Amino acid sequence: MTTQNKMPLLSVRDLCKYFHLPCGRRWSRKTISVKAVDHVSFDLYPGETLGLVGESGCGKTTTSRAIVRALRPTRGKILFSDSGTPVDLACLSERQLKKIRPKIQMIFQDPFSSLNPRMTIGSIVTEPLVINKIGNAKTRKEQMAEMLTKVGLKPEDAARYPHAFSGGQRQRIGIARALILKPSFVICDEPVSALDVSVQAQIINLLRELQRQFEWTLIFVAHDLNVVRYISDRVAVMYAGRIVELGDTETVFNQPGHPYTKTLLSAIPYPDPDRKMEYKHMGQVADPGHLPAGCSFHPRCSHCVELCRQKQPDLIAQGDDHFIGCHLV
Ligand code: SF4
Repeated sequence: MTTQNKMPLLSVRDLCKYFHLPCGRRWSRKTISVKAVDHVSFDLYPGETLGLVGESGCGKTTTSRAIVRALRPTRGKILFSDSGTPVDLACLSERQLKKIRPKIQMIFQDPFSSLNPRMTIGSIVTEPLVINKIGNAKTRKEQMAEMLTKVGLKPEDAARYPHAFSGGQRQRIGIARALILKPSFVICDEPVSALDVSVQAQIINLLRELQRQFEWTLIFVAHDLNVVRYISDRVAVMYAGRIVELGDTETVFNQPGHPYTKTLLSAIPYPDPDRKMEYKHMGQVADPGHLPAGCSFHPRCSHCVELCRQKQPDLIAQGDDHFIGCHLV
């Protein structure tokens, strides 16, 4: 997908989320600042899928949660332009957010704990309509039946409870719940990582089909690079709360520029017995509470030079829609 000549649906600018955690003894007032998300900026265009990848603890989920305002950002702008005029989600009050929330939905990682076991499937799927006071009992029931059919379940399933469904079916229920408000922007937070591989493919294909039908704009958070490559138009690679590489999916996968991206890609297994794995062990992930000076990746980087220990690299354009944050690129 080309991103030129289009107005972004979402513009994230300098987004930061810091947590201040107590350190030392219990009665000490000292705190450390944990930079879970640090100066993250990107644009997201209508109908596009942006994959957010990186190891656990790199800030993917915190970035997503800050964007949907499940967490209040420490600083930065989240400009959402669904109605043509950009609205900064970062500074809206809870009351103002309530009007925008139907347009922004989230699909969660764990289909086992994200559904209330005491509610029937019908109540779970129609709950967003009830909360947002949309329609009446009859229209809600009709919409619910339609959404269950769209995600591959039967309207008769509405009277059953979550425990009667498999993991893949529960994720379909979660998708129906997100879908019923007809959002324009959906964040999928590791939607298939708790599922079997065969079921993963079905859910990914369902998401692609629904995106085509409803023209969703997606952020797809995952650590499985093969899944991200399959579903994403562009990819943002995160390390220690920052985006270190951002670009068109095929460019990032075929011509990675950042040493961290190269090492992540070298760890992808290929179903070819003759192909030699070139994975290089990278050492420990940086501790967000005690990040090293300069480039956060420098203790793990085999190309590190003196400048890397002193100065954090900026994300610099290296071609059309390809950005890399490394001094040596
Ligand atoms: Fe490695 Fe230096 Fe580039 Fe960081 S800036 S990734 S340490 S070469």
